[in-house]
Amino acid sequence: MKRFPLSKERLAELAERFPTPFYLYDEEAIRANAKRISKAFSVFPGFKEHFAVKALPNPFILKILADEGFGADCASLPELVLAQKAGMTGEAAMFTSNETPAREYAEAAKMGAVINLDDITHIDFLEKACGIPELVSCRYNPGPLKEGNAIIGKPEEAKYGFTRDQLFEGYAKLREKGAKRFGLHTMVASNELSADYHVETGRILFELAAELKAKLGIRIEFVNVGGGAGIPYRPDQKALDIEYVAKNLRDAYDKIVVPAGLDPLGLRMEWARIVTGPYGWLVTTAIHKKEIYRSYIGLDSCMADLMRPGMYGAYHHMSVSGKEGAAATETYDVVGSLCENNDKFAVQRQLPKIDVGDFVVIHDAGAHGRAMGFNYNGKLRCGEVLLRSDGSAVRIRRSETMDDYFATLDFDALAAFKA
Ligand SMILES: *Cc1c(COP(=O)(O)O)cnc(C)c1O
Repeated sequence: MKRFPLSKERLAELAERFPTPFYLYDEEAIRANAKRISKAFSVFPGFKEHFAVKALPNPFILKILADEGFGADCASLPELVLAQKAGMTGEAAMFTSNETPAREYAEAAKMGAVINLDDITHIDFLEKACGIPELVSCRYNPGPLKEGNAIIGKPEEAKYGFTRDQLFEGYAKLREKGAKRFGLHTMVASNELSADYHVETGRILFELAAELKAKLGIRIEFVNVGGGAGIPYRPDQKALDIEYVAKNLRDAYDKIVVPAGLDPLGLRMEWARIVTGPYGWLVTTAIHKKEIYRSYIGLDSCMADLMRPGMYGAYHHMSVSGKEGAAATETYDVVGSLCENNDKFAVQRQLPKIDVGDFVVIHDAGAHGRAMGFNYNGKLRCGEVLLRSDGSAVRIRRSETMDDYFATLDFDALAAFKA
């Protein structure tokens, strides 16, 4: 059974203070998980996890992760600013962006973030924008040399990164232009549960780093295996064996990196989903019940708060607070209020009988959840609540208001505007 940290009574109390819908995050569980990841990868001489801000761009969460020793992975200036505000400064922030505007490169350089280039043409582009920094990283796209996974697609169809040949040319060019320290990055999977897949990705980077040293005399300072560690969204799936990944990556390191004379080589990751995903829930209330050709449960939330089911057909487990042990006797489509028929949190799902007023909890929403929200249909996104390690609850983001929705409009100009 999937976990939710609050009993129905405690949830009802919380909902008095913070009306549903809201996201709930569990600080204690996030911290315990961060510690587990750090411990597993402590077998590497220089390990750093850079949490991808896009998955959960809340500075309170980032501050907790910074306290656990994590850095950030950012892809835009606002994400860099969030990371900075949370204390992830200087090289603790990786700037892994693509199609990057010149101004964002310049700002990232000013902040001392590690710039990770997405393309060989970006070397000249970066030089023009702000000069070549001492430390630069490049993103590798292995193309047909590595199988993709279902979600991110085949690497040769992915828009990211340098080809293998471009990488050799690129590092040589960066060195010519004055770069002194080098990182090597790739990201080829998303939501991947196979431990061997992640080990293989690391091995590819270790081998490439060894080859760059042998062929060009370029000494790579760190490899970054990106994000993509999967979580078991479905109750019958098995969690990724983090310790197995770390141990087998270390074995590959001993076989490849050490003989190549590259030890110590830093290992960096940009895991996000696996860090916070299972420890965040979208808490909603059933407000309507409808019987037509199917049975529908209408929630007070919608796809604007969590778009993964509607966008990807992704499975998110669902439980009804106080009915966790009840038999799943009903078949429902559990839906949101958007005027789009794909606004369904669950389709033909077996669930206990739901009554109007029940709290319906959507699991594994702690990453790529609220972050992907939008305002289509005039929907206002919900807020976020943090369940602290001491059992107290604090609001870490209020829900949106109409004023937020209208903030980019000028109604005075509208009044003066002649149609
Ligand atoms: C999205 C993303 C991540 C995080 O991915 P997860 O699947 O959440 O671990 C890391 N790095 C980059 C470059 C990304 O785009």
